[in-house]
Amino acid sequence: MFEKVLIANRGEIACRIAAVLRGRGIGSVAVYSEADAAAPHRHAADEAFPIGPAPVAQSYLNQDAILDAALRSGAQAIHPGYGLLSENTTFARRVVEAGLVFIGPTPEAIDAMGDKAAARRTAKAAGVPVVPGSDGPLDDDAEASRVAEAIGYPVLVKAAGGGGGIGMALVHKPDRLARALESCRDRGRSSFGNPAVYLEKYIEQPRHVEVQVLFDHHGHGIHLFERECTLQRRHQKVVEEAPSPFVATRPDVRAGLTEAALRAAGAIGYRNAGTVEFVVGTDGAFYFIEMNTRLQVEHPVTEAVTGVDLIGWQLDIAAGRPLTLRQEDVRLSGAAVECRVYAEDPAKSFLPRPGHIGRFVPPSGPGIRVDTGVGPDQDVTPYYDPMIAKLLAHGADRAEALERARAALQGFVVEGLTTNLSFLAEILGHPDVRAGAFDTGWLERFAKGR
Ligand code: ADP
Ligand code: ADP
Ligand code: MG
Repeated sequence: MFEKVLIANRGEIACRIAAVLRGRGIGSVAVYSEADAAAPHRHAADEAFPIGPAPVAQSYLNQDAILDAALRSGAQAIHPGYGLLSENTTFARRVVEAGLVFIGPTPEAIDAMGDKAAARRTAKAAGVPVVPGSDGPLDDDAEASRVAEAIGYPVLVKAAGGGGGIGMALVHKPDRLARALESCRDRGRSSFGNPAVYLEKYIEQPRHVEVQVLFDHHGHGIHLFERECTLQRRHQKVVEEAPSPFVATRPDVRAGLTEAALRAAGAIGYRNAGTVEFVVGTDGAFYFIEMNTRLQVEHPVTEAVTGVDLIGWQLDIAAGRPLTLRQEDVRLSGAAVECRVYAEDPAKSFLPRPGHIGRFVPPSGPGIRVDTGVGPDQDVTPYYDPMIAKLLAHGADRAEALERARAALQGFVVEGLTTNLSFLAEILGHPDVRAGAFDTGWLERFAKGR
């Protein structure tokens, strides 16, 4: 096992990885930007190295500075967390070239799934159902228009390099297609350095269901059941849960989804933890949309219901240990829900609201876990994602998990900032949410009607 690991991230996920390392007696190294000089993640690790000014391009995406910190600290491995450099093939390659271990999949696997249009083809070739759409990136508007007519409107234009809900546009009518293509190409170019776009049929009243997988370096892979992340705004997840209330009623769908996820990951020789995402229609038909070749924000709901420490397994697998967990050992216990607590204003189109935190008192109680990267008397800056905490509740069943989460949200004290705390509590108390009767448009409709 490693003696020391560098964490190339910030916020709650950096704090959480540091805690796992500490629990295993492994040394931890944090990196921090000038804006994060007083941030909790800096102190969560045994050592910390400054890596540059506030903007991510000069700090958390500064590969030279991060690799330099890793080598100077004597770390043997780098955990990239999620976002930032976690799906950057060049970085993964440079880590290996520097003689270090990248805690994640191989650069080839990241590449295979990084271009979402290419990932569709890979999944399709592996016999995994994909949403009807274009077979690859679309060269021109005329071709896009032909594909859209063939699959039928509404269609979704997607940037091939997209992520975090960025570079997607829903198109209901042919006369809106050209503008959507242009805007997604622009977003793809500016946010991901890739102007390629592709088309998918828009699945009406969709639910987002994803399957967590773990693969070791010895040919052994398992799934850890599904998560449902249908409550979204701007194609971004806000509330996630495990198991999926819909899939829980459909053993046939669960069997199909988990088998498809293992097949998609197996097709690219996947290693380490990953997530295969699907959209599921009202009839239970499911379609691959992408694979995230990293730890996901919402992985703790899976940890809660399976009792499996995903970051712990990421370390073991990266160190070459066999995955001793067998499929039949993974069992679901109760239900768990995660709420992403943001410094944002739900009444103003969820606009980020940076500011200074005064008092900060996270809730506690049976089944409650709070993962956070901020504390009292801290700044939430405009430089980074405005998520300040993840509140998790685990219960014997879904009703108990939801009620525990709602009560905990109401007891969460964050002074000085506009947050979505009361909005989240309202959502969890809503009869539709209680009944598990929602689609990916539900949350935005609810926010508008409030
Ligand atoms: P996940 O796929 O793990 O559920 P998301 O899809 O919400 O997470 O986000 C994917 C990644 O994009 C995350 O690692 C997150 O840090 C990053 N991200 C999320 N929201 C934004 C945003 N508004 N701008 C830029 N990056 C974002
Ligand atoms: P990202 O890479 O930004 O996470 P995804 O391709 O995973 O983008 O899509 C983000 C969200 O958009 C999904 O969680 C789902 O809710 C919705 N979505 C994606 N593709 C479709 C589709 N073909 N039909 C309906 N909804 C979709
Ligand atoms: Mg996605």
